[in-house]
Amino acid sequence: MTRIGFLGLGNMGAPMARRLVEAGHDVVVWNRSTARTRPLVAAGARAAATPAAAVADREVVVTMLADPAAVEAVFFGADGAAAHLAPGSLVVEMSTIGRDAVLRLRDSLPAEVRLVDAPVVGSVPQATGGQLRILLGGTPADVEAAGPALAAFGNTRHVGPLGCGAALKLVLNTSTISLFVLVGEALALADQLGLDPAETIEGLGATGMAPFLARIGDRIDDRDVPTYFGLGLAHKDLELALAAADGSGRPPRHLLAGGRDQLAAAVRAGMAGRDVSTVIHLLRGETGR
Ligand code: NAP
Repeated sequence: MTRIGFLGLGNMGAPMARRLVEAGHDVVVWNRSTARTRPLVAAGARAAATPAAAVADREVVVTMLADPAAVEAVFFGADGAAAHLAPGSLVVEMSTIGRDAVLRLRDSLPAEVRLVDAPVVGSVPQATGGQLRILLGGTPADVEAAGPALAAFGNTRHVGPLGCGAALKLVLNTSTISLFVLVGEALALADQLGLDPAETIEGLGATGMAPFLARIGDRIDDRDVPTYFGLGLAHKDLELALAAADGSGRPPRHLLAGGRDQLAAAVRAGMAGRDVSTVIHLLRGETGR
């Protein structure tokens, strides 16, 4: 049993924190919108009023927050966690924020606090079922220390020194997020050419797109899917990936930039909180609402 502070109870964080409670850990949770702590308290966690209070006596602190700005606010904003972390405690940063933000966090945290980056592959169903794949960056000793807590979430892979998990996660998302845009544009072209959408999807299923289509299932047809991965978060990831490529991105990353622009248009259309798959509907001329 480990004393764990868990900060960030969004679509991913809530089921992950619940798994820690169910695994028998002593869990204190915090979320910016306090209502989201209630189901976790009902499940056996304690709620803290501030990030500072959530980390004070914790051996492990897990963060699962939206983006680099959220991580910055939670550690260094009002009642922030950073100054209250116990010496020797381990911060496990699981949000998708990219390597630069992880290294900035390392520079700003007290030296006696340990840090690993541990972003995840998988979405809400995998978070709920404990089947996430966790990409770890850090020293071997710190990665090993994170193991008992992370076991509740899925399987782990140590991919390199601090920041490498975060960097690899962005690389993986450049491809998976772009595929939503690619399918949307392909189906929009098929619509323009007057093709039967079912025939187009059947045809795509016999190409290299088959595994992706199998994974997203009926999200191509269903316009009212629950949000597993927010479109605004997907846009954030392509922005982070492009920023990481900046300066060394020769030749230019046209596909990545094109995907980012399509998602930016969807965000402007008010779809940031909807599932990333709804970009397909937008590209086909329907907002999915
Ligand atoms: P989410 O549902 O949008 O939740 C975001 C969390 O961040 C919420 O707890 C939110 O608090 C908090 N937050 C946002 N801005 C904040 C701020 N300025 N200060 C304090 N807290 C703030 O996101 P999610 O889907 O759980 O994803 C979490 C992270 O995992 C993201 O980095 C995402 O890219 C990554 N990820 C997501 C998926 C997925 O399928 N969803 C898969 C892999 C990785 P409130 O509740 O108060 O808004």
